[in-house]
Amino acid sequence: LVYSDSDPLKRILHADATLDSDGNPIRKKKVVVLGSGWSGYSFLSYLNNPNYDVQVVSPRNFFLFTPLLPSVTNGTVEARSIVEPIRGLMRKKGFEYKEAECVKIDASNKKIHCRSKEGSSLKGTTEFDMDYDILILAVGAKPNTFNTPGVEEHAYFLKEAEDALNIRHSVIDCFERASLPNLTEEERKKILHFVVVGGGPTGVEFSAELHDFLVQDVAKIYPKVQEFTKITLLEAGDHILNMFDKRITAFAEEKFQRDGIDLKTGSMVVGVTADEISTKERETGKIVSEPYGMVVWSTGIGSRPVIKDFMQQIGQGQRRVLATDEWLRVEGCDGVYALGDTATINQRRVMEDIAAIFNKADKGNTGTLNKKDFNSVVKDICQRYPQVELYLKKNKLKNIANLLKSANGEDTQVNIEKFKQALSEVDSQMKNLPATAQVASQQGKYLAKCFNKMEKCEKKPEGPLRFRGEGRHRFQPFRYRHFGSFAPLGGEQTAAELPGDWVSIGHSSQWLWYSVYASKLVSWRTRMLVISDWTRRFVFGRDSSS
Ligand code: FAD
Ligand code: MG
Ligand code: MG
Ligand code: MG
Ligand code: MG
Repeated sequence: LVYSDSDPLKRILHADATLDSDGNPIRKKKVVVLGSGWSGYSFLSYLNNPNYDVQVVSPRNFFLFTPLLPSVTNGTVEARSIVEPIRGLMRKKGFEYKEAECVKIDASNKKIHCRSKEGSSLKGTTEFDMDYDILILAVGAKPNTFNTPGVEEHAYFLKEAEDALNIRHSVIDCFERASLPNLTEEERKKILHFVVVGGGPTGVEFSAELHDFLVQDVAKIYPKVQEFTKITLLEAGDHILNMFDKRITAFAEEKFQRDGIDLKTGSMVVGVTADEISTKERETGKIVSEPYGMVVWSTGIGSRPVIKDFMQQIGQGQRRVLATDEWLRVEGCDGVYALGDTATINQRRVMEDIAAIFNKADKGNTGTLNKKDFNSVVKDICQRYPQVELYLKKNKLKNIANLLKSANGEDTQVNIEKFKQALSEVDSQMKNLPATAQVASQQGKYLAKCFNKMEKCEKKPEGPLRFRGEGRHRFQPFRYRHFGSFAPLGGEQTAAELPGDWVSIGHSSQWLWYSVYASKLVSWRTRMLVISDWTRRFVFGRDSSS
């Protein structure tokens, strides 16, 4: 059908389509979102732009509140309580959802290839292709085994809701097996030896949860075998929780010592068999093997195969992690964005832009900066180059003016050479953002907000050096705000590291932890469920059926 511009029928026939200023229907841009985790869910919740046709593809039809996942492993919290079905959000927003996994991205044809869960009874419906105009990669990452032999086959991971339930069943199973008659003491010891690999936040929290379960519940339920239990925590580096403040690391290591958790630092796992786990001690180079009942592997994350393949296609094959710019656009591929654990931001170096920054500040083109010139761009520099702030903080300087002073003495007139010299060390402070829910959800929110004003922004995108105040609709680059981190250490004690070097450890931070996580839960439904789980645990103890 062809309508003339003046055709009155046209408006009626297309009453629900969006029309452009000439009255022509606009084809909505198709946005395909891969993933329903922290970043994907946050993006979808904040997206409010009727001009997009939004399609979501994820193998799981729920959002998972991962910070409480370790508490599921011992039954403190039920798995059901920390998942939020996404169908509700889809309906509310008018988005479409397909329960499938993207197995291949065809960037040059703007297509993705998807596969629904295996075991679908209708042949031929399990695979399908989708086109996109804009693709949002929010697929997260997978546990990294570093290709250590036997890990995939014999160890448990703690990443998804199923993983936590599997661990819970397996722990209880170990106790039931160890309680059977006709076992030697050695055999019982082996079955009840729990090994945790990785001293990061997840491994540490899981060890603590397991320990609480052993002392608080197992003592009552399986008193006969309690004496045979042992937890070993293996860490390849010198310390556990090395991303935290030293005071927290020290406290955690001491607490684990007191609790009888066997913490072995400097030991790298080199292999796992059905019965034994082998580690190489860094100092002696000796390989030691120990029998175990259960191994939980938590040594960090790596890229998913679909992302690795995509990186090959777009010329990022040499990289370890997919790179985006500060606007979260995948480098080397138009129309594709990446969020959360899927990617890292390729932060710009101050030194690359130094001449441009200088010219920007030097309004009168005098070749020198005075204090006033300088103040006008300082805020933007700090915003655009987060490493500047980190550098100032590390060197206990109040602001860049002080930095210039420390480099150039009292001379407040700065030329380009002096400017360079003063900022020459700053880039050494460049750091990738951590792979956390905090980062992922902020990125999802940021990108949704950009998309909400996309029409305005597309006409005036902001280049790397256009600073604030040059047009209201330009995108600001993504900037992370750190609200602090927690490390639950068991026994109702938590370590908290809050902005401004504030460290707090103990029972009071445990209550802070309870309230922060309760408030971060995405719905009142899950909040109610989790709080009632916590209450049930306080009153009745944990459930030990498997
Ligand atoms: P995810 O949340 O992992 O979401 C990925 C989504 O993509 C999932 O829905 C998945 O099903 C889907 N998907 C996977 N493959 C495909 C595919 N091929 N196609 C389509 N969809 C796909 N962070 C904190 O800040 N604080 C904490 O206390 C904390 N505790 C944690 C505890 C545990 C046990 C774990 C495992 C993580 C914890 N994290 C914590 C880290 C945090 O969970 C991650 O950083 C965060 O989930 C990253 O978000 P994401 O959106 O990138 O990925
Ligand atoms: Mg996600
Ligand atoms: Mg998640
Ligand atoms: Mg996850
Ligand atoms: Mg990331």
